[in-house]
Amino acid sequence: MQQQDYLVRAMLGENQARLFALRTTEVVRQAQHNHHTSPVATAALGRTLTIGLVIGAMVKGEETITLQIKGDGPLQGIVVSVTSQGTVKGYVGNPHVDLPLSAQGKLAVGAAVGEGYLHVIRDLGLKEAYQGTVPLQTGEIAEDFAYYFTHSEQTPSAVILGVLVGVDGVPLGSGGIIIQLLPDAIHDEEFITKLEVSLEKLPPVSSLFAGEQTPEEIVESAFGELGVHFVGHQEVRFHCDCSWERFEQALITLGPEELEELVTANEVIETVCHFCNEKYNFTPEQLNNLLAKLLNPRE
Ligand SMILES: [Zn+2]
Repeated sequence: MQQQDYLVRAMLGENQARLFALRTTEVVRQAQHNHHTSPVATAALGRTLTIGLVIGAMVKGEETITLQIKGDGPLQGIVVSVTSQGTVKGYVGNPHVDLPLSAQGKLAVGAAVGEGYLHVIRDLGLKEAYQGTVPLQTGEIAEDFAYYFTHSEQTPSAVILGVLVGVDGVPLGSGGIIIQLLPDAIHDEEFITKLEVSLEKLPPVSSLFAGEQTPEEIVESAFGELGVHFVGHQEVRFHCDCSWERFEQALITLGPEELEELVTANEVIETVCHFCNEKYNFTPEQLNNLLAKLLNPRE
């Protein structure tokens, strides 16, 4: 059964906290399908795609945000790019990582990611992009982003992310819940205690989002006692904006000497988009036309 993935925003209590909840099962299925990721790579990439969509939903106006997880583990890093319009794309350095399950019987995402840094790069349409960097805490992604929000953006946050991978490697469910305390509530002990109790009782989100419940129903059943007021809804999907023309431009920037070498080699050149794994082929004839365009731009 396919359901459209979407994100909901809500306010908790008397506007003491804001909440984002989203199902990303189809997003992560598409990523797994494109990149042929192993279960642990699917979980690592899926969690990062999910938090990416939340960060995208936090910004106003048109903006692209890039998340980079640079860890020294066998996954060789994660890159996710998200727009404020609910589209996301991403990849991992080594999609075929295979590690034994952790002592708790879970996919060993932290061990796959390793130690390193998390970068959040906001492209504000200006020349300089704003960047926030924090050291990775556990490599499990959720803890790392909770630390990022709390220390880099001074917003105490609970981040829960989960991807459930089936025995055939296909994701069965994926989603996340992110709760951020608003400034007035930072010393509201009563609210914080109630919130902590609700968070402790929360079942694993990967199973919640694999089930029949909608994001709204999941939020209501987990945080209903605090008071939930939904304020927004956005569809989310895996989407890459690459094209043959874009790769043509990239080949042109190689310059005439390198292009001429490619033409002389007389072979089909295959280019691959890192973000979505789409392949674009250029025949020697097409390369020759590119070279001609480059040398005689007016013709
Ligand atoms: Zn692409």
